[in-house]
Amino acid sequence: MSTNSDEYRLVNPVLRQVMKGVYNRRRSFPMKYLCDIRLERIYDQFFAQIFFMSRGCSHDLKGGCTMCNYGYGQEHLLDQEAVLKEIRYKIEQLPKRLHEVVVSPIGSMLDEEEVPHDFLIKVFDILSDIKCNEFTCETRADSISCEKLRLLKDNIRADKITLEIGVESTDDWLLRNSINKNTEFKTVQDVIETAHSMGIQICANIGIGFPFVNEAVSISSARSSIRKLLEQNVSCIALFAYNIRPGTLLEQLWRMGLYQCTSLWAIAEVLSSFSDVQLRRIQISWYRNYYEEKSKILHMPYLCDDCREDVLALFDAYRNDPCQKTLQPLLSYQCKCKDEWYAGYRMQKPEIDFLNVQNMYTALSKEFSVSAELLEKELIYMARTLSERRK
Ligand code: SF4
Ligand SMILES: [Zn+2]
Repeated sequence: MSTNSDEYRLVNPVLRQVMKGVYNRRRSFPMKYLCDIRLERIYDQFFAQIFFMSRGCSHDLKGGCTMCNYGYGQEHLLDQEAVLKEIRYKIEQLPKRLHEVVVSPIGSMLDEEEVPHDFLIKVFDILSDIKCNEFTCETRADSISCEKLRLLKDNIRADKITLEIGVESTDDWLLRNSINKNTEFKTVQDVIETAHSMGIQICANIGIGFPFVNEAVSISSARSSIRKLLEQNVSCIALFAYNIRPGTLLEQLWRMGLYQCTSLWAIAEVLSSFSDVQLRRIQISWYRNYYEEKSKILHMPYLCDDCREDVLALFDAYRNDPCQKTLQPLLSYQCKCKDEWYAGYRMQKPEIDFLNVQNMYTALSKEFSVSAELLEKELIYMARTLSERRK
């Protein structure tokens, strides 16, 4: 593949080969259920989260994002008619009027390879029986087309429809070389415009704790990404601090001593640069391990034992009402782990240390048998595009 091609601009071939290796070492998703619904009642309102089994995100199948292990269904065992039957059965048990419904396959709802068109029509047909105030589904930016948005609009009976997109960063260098997203920010911008023109809202997920770069780089990326997305009028940002999950590149790097989780104080630091009006659109996510099976996450972003419970409660308060009032107690909270984290963070410059990136890529290439030729070509490309990014 020529380094001048559009595909090379999006796809880092070294990271893809490494991620494919990580993927192949991973176990498939246990086929415990074909459809699972979590129903919550808060006062008089019902919130339903509907999950259905699929073959998994097609980007993941090719060697997906470096922090993700959403897994994949065992395709040979996956009977689509049985999945539909189960979705229909479970949805019939739900209350007739719901406040919020979130629907998701393992990966991306509008991904043609994961949820083929004919199957999606049948899923939407079942979902059209539900009436709700808010409907959300999660999908990759590059899976969104006018045709799929029209299908969504025509079938879902909700006052507000939102697509949740894993944007991670608006920095194309980080998207390609740290996250392995295979999507440029321009695609996200176009998708936001199209969705808005059809009355569909966007919630953008933004990450911190990227591999290969220091915390100052990912915090600075999060700040500028959030600003750009707010300017594009997304209805919500969800800020995530990456945790380490089994079967991800983050786990691999951590085992090699080349990665560690950021601290939850990094979330407060990102939020500290936004106004009250902006904070009302900035949610936080993944700061707790919500899984019943705690082993689904190997490491959470750090807080010390002395402050963990207090600080998590403060993050809960922010999540329930994101604004300056609920952020202030986090900013003024005092703990030794916060001082230590800030002391390290303030020593860093928000600049990518290419030598460090090169060393990590070299170590990974050995581990995943990437050829010296491919690695060298890629390092030259990454160095060139990094210097162009700095101009
Ligand atoms: S696009 Fe989403 S589901 Fe797919 S690999 Fe990336 S984070 Fe995971
Ligand atoms: Zn502490």
